[in-house]
Amino acid sequence: MSHEISEHDVIVIGAGGAGLRAAIAAAELSPKLSIAVVSKVYPMRSHTVSAEGGAAAVTREYDNLDAHARDTIFGADFLADQDAVEAFVAEAPHELIQLEHWGCPWSRDADGRISVRSFGGMSVKRTLFAADKTGFHMLHALFQTSLKYDHIVRYDECFVTSLLVEDGRARGITNVNLYTGEVMVLAANAIVLCTGGGGRVFPFTTNAAIKTGDGMALAYRAGVPLKDMEFVQYHPTGLPGTGILITEASRSEGGWLKNKDGHRYLQDYGLGPPTDTPTQRKMELGPRDILSRCHMQEYQKGHTFEGPHGHYVHLDLRHLGQELIDRKLPFVRELVRNYVGIDPVYEPIPVRPVVHYMMGGVHTDMDGKTPLEGLYAAGETACVSINGANRLGSNSLTECLVFGARAGRNAAEYASGMGTPTSNPLAALARDEQHRLDSQFFKKEGGSERIAAIRTEMQHAMEEGAGIYRDASSMGATCEKLRELRERFSRIRLEDSSEVFNTERISALELDFMLDVADTIANGALLRKESRGSHTRTDFPSRDDENFLKHTLAYRTDEGPRLDYAPVKITRWQPEERKY
Ligand SMILES: Cc1cc2nc3c(=O)[nH]c(=O)nc-3n(C[C@H](O)[C@H](O)[C@H](O)COP(=O)(O)OP(=O)(O)OC[C@H]3O[C@@H](n4cnc5c(N)ncnc54)[C@H](O)[C@@H]3O)c2cc1C
Repeated sequence: MSHEISEHDVIVIGAGGAGLRAAIAAAELSPKLSIAVVSKVYPMRSHTVSAEGGAAAVTREYDNLDAHARDTIFGADFLADQDAVEAFVAEAPHELIQLEHWGCPWSRDADGRISVRSFGGMSVKRTLFAADKTGFHMLHALFQTSLKYDHIVRYDECFVTSLLVEDGRARGITNVNLYTGEVMVLAANAIVLCTGGGGRVFPFTTNAAIKTGDGMALAYRAGVPLKDMEFVQYHPTGLPGTGILITEASRSEGGWLKNKDGHRYLQDYGLGPPTDTPTQRKMELGPRDILSRCHMQEYQKGHTFEGPHGHYVHLDLRHLGQELIDRKLPFVRELVRNYVGIDPVYEPIPVRPVVHYMMGGVHTDMDGKTPLEGLYAAGETACVSINGANRLGSNSLTECLVFGARAGRNAAEYASGMGTPTSNPLAALARDEQHRLDSQFFKKEGGSERIAAIRTEMQHAMEEGAGIYRDASSMGATCEKLRELRERFSRIRLEDSSEVFNTERISALELDFMLDVADTIANGALLRKESRGSHTRTDFPSRDDENFLKHTLAYRTDEGPRLDYAPVKITRWQPEERKY
């Protein structure tokens, strides 16, 4: 079967915050470049749209870049690369102001200045927001800006299945057009992965169903290492059952966490005293990893409620009053009414920790460049790394802008120096990929394993062995289980052979990616014999800078991930104990 090959200069995979920002940066570099944006969903459905709380940057006179850098590095438990963090905080203010010029309606104070709110782990108020629908407004501003460039060509609802690597360079991609079922080939001199995170490898998550770590697995299979995958962030306040996020903004506006006795339990874990409105980095505004662990300890002490979806505590907003809730947290009220059936103006909200964000991802440098020539990555799928072992809330929307722009610009510069891509060698690679897709998925005969069963078992194994608390035996069992699931996956049974919007095929392809991602998380965690940031081991409870102040790099082999390590870049902040 021969494929028609569409040629571009740059391909951006993903149309969320990072992807659209990368595409605009590439488009701005030169009107002569053709830039393809490929997304498995319509751009406005990317997960960025659901971000609620806000985006951090230094915009006030009481604040400064060093303070933002220090909070980020400290929050990251010193695993962040400090040169990347310094670039990040320096470029953040310009990116957020520019976004307003592109149409993002930041909330404002009475005196006309852009408002800022507190966020967990930040030492001062520096998080900009558009009520509690920040991601929606940001993505809209980016999307409408991208529309003004005719040389950005979109491939919406196209699912990328592989990166085509030729002669040690990323040269193109294959993707399934979901509307027709056809496999298409795109060629380019540079490719930017902006495919977001992979929270769906866990059972309880705030992440949309599309967050299946595809880009991480694509890069991994193309020989690029995944960095620091063992660091997975739990958000302390998700709704039990659905995992829907109740934004940190609800605590920043003054919400309280209470156990089943009505006690604000965080004061018992060194985060007190319990002031009425939680102050910076104290009580309810402590960092996410610590708050999630406090929840688990309350559970172990029998202080949590028990419901149909397991243990939970209360997030109480009642004392804030209806006026403030409607003005600052309207979406929280809407979500809780629709999905829990109660009104947070009158009743406390049931919450539990849920998987929220992946600190790890595709290994890149500060320019978004991966070790594979011609391949770049940015946003949640990448690991630069500014988030280290624990991301601070509201840093990642900004990260999408700063590093999306850097990756897009650098990819475009690289591509423009390369001349027209030659597509000939890609034809053979595309045929191989078509063969793989046909034999493993599209025209697969027989098989008895169900995708839903394998996915559920994978998610539960991840929660068991790679959840908030970890130890060698549970992680070892999870690694073993993942090997078994990978083997069973080769015997999956697919029943829908239609070509138009075949969601069964896509679920199978996504599960294939997730099994790779899960494997790097569990194996990375097993070998990191310390506790740092989100990675808490009951058998190694302390941080061990002597042996583990280093990044994990996972390389794909047929026998599972091979792990290597790389140094952390320290510039001005020497590691110290992380106390709040
Ligand atoms: C509920 C929620 C609330 C959040 N709130 C905040 C907040 O207030 N502040 C903050 O800083 N961060 C927040 N975050 C985190 C932040 O929103 C994300 O990290 C960030 O938006 C990720 O953006 P992205 O561009 O990297 O990926 P996404 O927005 O997830 O976009 C990924 C893109 O990749 C495409 N894609 C993926 N796989 C494929 C494939 N195989 N083929 C083709 N296309 C593909 C998708 O179609 C999509 O367009 C929140 C996250 C969640 C889940």
